[in-house]
Amino acid sequence: MKFKNVIIACSTIALFLSCATNPFTGKSTMALVPNSQLFPTAFAQYNQVLSESNVETGTARADMITRVGQRIAVAAERWLNANGHQGYLTDYKWEYNLIDDPTVNAWCMPGGKIVFYTGILPIAQSETGVAAIMGHEVAHALANHGQQRMSAAYIQQGLAVAGNVAIQDDQTRDAFNQYYGVGSNVLGMLPFSRSHETEADKIGLYLMGIAGYNPTEASNLWVRMKANSGGEAPPEMLSTHPSNDSRIANLKALAPQAIEESKKFGVSSFRPISNFNY
Ligand SMILES: [Zn+2]
Repeated sequence: MKFKNVIIACSTIALFLSCATNPFTGKSTMALVPNSQLFPTAFAQYNQVLSESNVETGTARADMITRVGQRIAVAAERWLNANGHQGYLTDYKWEYNLIDDPTVNAWCMPGGKIVFYTGILPIAQSETGVAAIMGHEVAHALANHGQQRMSAAYIQQGLAVAGNVAIQDDQTRDAFNQYYGVGSNVLGMLPFSRSHETEADKIGLYLMGIAGYNPTEASNLWVRMKANSGGEAPPEMLSTHPSNDSRIANLKALAPQAIEESKKFGVSSFRPISNFNY
């Protein structure tokens, strides 16, 4: 009897699971929460984070974050269009904000809502370094990695079993908070899986290259991330985005491929890498 219930619950989950295709990998991914439900939640939470934070505007470094973000967004759109995924970004409402806070972190919520903390700028070191981080974070959002974590959470919490498939707004919000960790809880964000990290690294390299930033700098950035983690308590950016030698080697190996991809989009040379002194 119990076994039978499990079967019924599982097939109900399967019935209501919508699977979206990840345009970057061609893989089918779990998307229990549709963008139409996820994005409004993300946008509201993003605005809440901004209202509770020291958002910096009108400075050279805030303008730089916007500039890099816009270029990465354009690169994403160009890449998707060129690969037959027109309309993929229709519901995106890109926004780029710099928060004056020593936290070493940056993130992109579903729908293209980006935050950089000033604390990560010394590690980014240059606009190209910012582009590497931005490309990686945007890649997580484009590939719906967070959405997959949320979907897994619903199943784990039994929210998606028979009789309870209609996910309530407050359940969406709770799962969202848990898996994106917004507001004061940004630092509580759970780590992405290793395969998601590798995927975001590759997509991020392409995006930064197409945006005109030299992909060879990405591995250098993660070397600095690793060095920064130093002792026993790494900054959160590093614990949710574990940096290790194999990742750095992987980025180095993929850079020539990203440079070739950039050429397809008319990028034959990259912006010079010069350290900023914000
Ligand atoms: Zn990541």
